[in-house]
Amino acid sequence: MERPGGKTAAVVLAAGQGKRMKSSVQKQFMELAGKPLIVHALERFQESDVDQIVLVTGREELSYCKNEIVAAFGFSKVTAVVAGGKERYHSVYEGLKALSGQGIESVLIHDGARPLLTETIISDALKGAAAYGACVIAVPAKDTIKLADEEQFARETPPRDRLWQIQTPQAFSYSLILSAYEKLFSRAEYQQGVTDDAMVVETMTDTRVKLVMGDYENIKVTTPEDMILAEAFLKARAAHFASKR
Ligand code: C5P
Repeated sequence: MERPGGKTAAVVLAAGQGKRMKSSVQKQFMELAGKPLIVHALERFQESDVDQIVLVTGREELSYCKNEIVAAFGFSKVTAVVAGGKERYHSVYEGLKALSGQGIESVLIHDGARPLLTETIISDALKGAAAYGACVIAVPAKDTIKLADEEQFARETPPRDRLWQIQTPQAFSYSLILSAYEKLFSRAEYQQGVTDDAMVVETMTDTRVKLVMGDYENIKVTTPEDMILAEAFLKARAAHFASKR
């Protein structure tokens, strides 16, 4: 596959409490297939065409991440480990600011809680950013999805063939996403209900966000049963690669 031009970066998110995991260890650092969960996504970026990585974590975890993750696993592409904020979009903005003035053309924003990222997804996201300025990795919805009213009665059933579940990475022209986030932070009312980066581009700019086919295995580890699923997928991949050797 051809490599899109320009310097590229990844912002990998590992801040936040992950309360739905109900664990004393934050989910980003729980052991998954023998390594801290966050290490899996960092390995994929380290092996990829991405030139540099910014890791965003909690203020209390900065030195743990620098020593026990970045140094211990030899992630030479990590150029900064920065503290995130209260909501995901605060953390993203901190990561984006850490890349300013470095000639970055495209940036991938990735939930560190998605350990099943692949080389193909990374390269498709980079190509999408180069071609469209903004793209998100997504998969077609398998289930029928209903919009509920306030009393939890079905209000509407959007046509399933137009529904996509959005994953990460979400990939953008760096100047576009930085200016979209600067606008988001210019007024508090813009920040209501922001759950992904594409939303920021959709609402703060005129650029259309392309949906790029992802992978159903690229799950976000949120609740305890997701750890079992993620471990099973990782084991299946390791067995697949071992059989090819
Ligand atoms: O909480 P949720 O699972 O939606 O988080 C998605 C990703 O965003 C996770 O990788 C998490 O570490 C990150 N996050 C963050 N800062 C926050 C909240 C979440 O970096 N304040």
